[in-house]
Amino acid sequence: MLKSIAGRSVVVTGASKGIGKGIARVFAEKGCKVLIVGRNYDDAQRAALEICERGGTAMAFAADVSDQRAVREMAVAACKYHGGIDILCANAGVYPMARLGEMTLSDWEGVLRTNLTGTYLSVDACLPELKRTGRGRIIIISSISGPVTAISGLSHYCASKAGQLGFLRAAALELASAGVTVNAILPGNIATEGVDGLGPEYISQMTAAIPLGRLGSVEDIAHAALFLASDEAAYITGQTITVDGGQLLPESKMAMG
Ligand code: NAP
Repeated sequence: MLKSIAGRSVVVTGASKGIGKGIARVFAEKGCKVLIVGRNYDDAQRAALEICERGGTAMAFAADVSDQRAVREMAVAACKYHGGIDILCANAGVYPMARLGEMTLSDWEGVLRTNLTGTYLSVDACLPELKRTGRGRIIIISSISGPVTAISGLSHYCASKAGQLGFLRAAALELASAGVTVNAILPGNIATEGVDGLGPEYISQMTAAIPLGRLGSVEDIAHAALFLASDEAAYITGQTITVDGGQLLPESKMAMG
């Protein structure tokens, strides 16, 4: 049983849908005050309302994580609504398919700008508040795709997700003296609106490749985030937790057993 983190202020980027929404809900259920961030304000507001209707504390804020000014305003809003920032979940990310040869520079830069630069900008904006607490937590949602595996058509995405881990290690080192930990979760295939958009063929192929026999749930990721945000995880920094239902284990299809 982890010590309570009730009352802590959490910023979750990309929290109007999918994994981020699940993280926001689970932290709110633990009594945290959550800022739901996404580009579309109505979606963010809907997600915040769902939390409030269940008795939680959440506010919505519209920001594109690739826009430095908007992300700085996001940090200001978290302080205004919730009195500071204890935990940042840098989750916002996109994964549009584009094969080499067809991918444009703008496709490449768009994905890098949201997934990698957006992570840096979110950390940068929240940093003064995270340091102020003396026990700030940064949790980056990376992926197995890029750091460990790859998917055809997602070279820009894989580069961004691997890049997040290089950033995480240097950031963990720099921020250790301020008591701020920086860790990442590497999800496998998680059932979200974004993954639904990849189509039924993708989902059935992926399910067949997962030893635990199902796509992950957003709660599977949220519970790992909860642990990394806990007081009990205070001595863990610069690390990654893979949450993939065993997807990385088999050497081949035959090895699935
Ligand atoms: P999703 O269902 O498509 O939701 C993405 C969320 O991010 C939405 O709330 C979206 O809201 C927001 N968002 C997108 N671009 C943004 C931007 N530039 N600024 C602010 N918010 C932005 O995605 P997901 O599947 O939950 O994925 C979330 C994260 O998990 C991503 O970083 C992804 O790489 C990672 N991940 C997912 C899986 C998986 O299987 N689902 C596996 C590995 C890693 P708006 O559109 O309103 O901005």
